[in-house]
Amino acid sequence: MSAGSTLLVCFDGLRRDRATAERMPNLSRFMAAGADLIKSRSVFPSETRVASTTTVTGCTPGEHGLVANQFINRAVAADGLFNTANHRNLARADELGVLLDRQSLGQRLAAAGKRFAVVTTATAGATYMMSYGAEKHGQPVFSVHPGVGTPTLMKTAEERLGPVPAAATPNTAQIDYATRVLTDIVYPEHRPDLAILWMSDPDITSHGFGIDAPETIAAQRGCDEAFGRILDWQSSGEGPENIVVMSDHGHVTGAARFDLAAALPEHAGQLSPGYFSGLYLAEPTRKAITAAVERLTHEPWCGLVFVNIPGDPQACVPGALPASALGGGHRRSAPVCFTLRAAESPNRARPRGVSSPVRFHPVAACMAGSPAANSPPFSPEKVRPSETASGRRRPAGCRTSRRRSLPSSASAPTAPAAGCCERCFPGMTTRPLSSPVAA
Ligand SMILES: [Zn+2]
Repeated sequence: MSAGSTLLVCFDGLRRDRATAERMPNLSRFMAAGADLIKSRSVFPSETRVASTTTVTGCTPGEHGLVANQFINRAVAADGLFNTANHRNLARADELGVLLDRQSLGQRLAAAGKRFAVVTTATAGATYMMSYGAEKHGQPVFSVHPGVGTPTLMKTAEERLGPVPAAATPNTAQIDYATRVLTDIVYPEHRPDLAILWMSDPDITSHGFGIDAPETIAAQRGCDEAFGRILDWQSSGEGPENIVVMSDHGHVTGAARFDLAAALPEHAGQLSPGYFSGLYLAEPTRKAITAAVERLTHEPWCGLVFVNIPGDPQACVPGALPASALGGGHRRSAPVCFTLRAAESPNRARPRGVSSPVRFHPVAACMAGSPAANSPPFSPEKVRPSETASGRRRPAGCRTSRRRSLPSSASAPTAPAAGCCERCFPGMTTRPLSSPVAA
């Protein structure tokens, strides 16, 4: 191993309170032995392509510019919707200079003369973002999606390990395959100073079945067994010196599918629908933004509402927070953004997981030095939780809008002090989000 070499393992969509010893014994032992960064948080919107871009830029979406999994950018897609799951859309946006406003990890490592590799079962779009610049710099990328990874690495993997298994939920077969690509091919042949292994579970299985479904628990176990093999491999001295573990976001529970376009007919052509949605108003004046927020906040399905008033990123209107309060507010952001209301119980009929907005924290980044290293840099006594807080862009003392109840998780934030947000954002109002969601 090279000195300081590090592997970053991401369990997509893993909530901290679901990373239990019962479901994930290897990860649980790893967290107990390493440094558990209990104050780490996802960015907002807490979606995979947004968070993976933040992972490799160190910036909030308001700075890097990949502002949602899907948003409207007519320069990229004439009919409006720019779906970032498709790597060809991302490549087109990159050609037009409207994709990424910050340097990526791969670019920085290349400039520093360091080797970088990415192995992932994530979408083609997430792969493109986490490996941004890899092709130009000759950095190896493995993807389970045809035509996305580095051709020579894909060919080598197929020759040695056979064809990539079909995608499934749980996606354990693809994750096992990718793990073998990492340990059997990428490390021996490319010796990366930094590598990313991104597992698409438990996220995709949570979306399909819910956060506590048997299928999702099986997905977590599959991820954990792959992680256990990585720990054994590292112990043999073949792998990196350090391993860092993270998730990109948590999950909450949705109760029903909902046709937003039908609910907002007056915003036809302006709506980017999703759990996190955007309204790209034709003329985003303060008056139009205020009216749109007024409309949204009277809807029983509406959750949090954010505004991005052109030229005034700290400003808000009644019923909304400024998007900049949570690290948003990029010029490509919608003038009005909102989430759908979600439930906290995992036990509704046919629960479906949706990517969580900040509140249900992902498993915090945990770090551990290799047992073989003489002086592991991330041992528990060297990193204290208080040194790891994120959210630095938030005004001091301010949290998100007031919520009625919080999960009984050790990592849950305390309720904001009364008037906290109002002090930080004069004119901001709060409203309860406690009425039931119509199923
Ligand atoms: Zn994700």
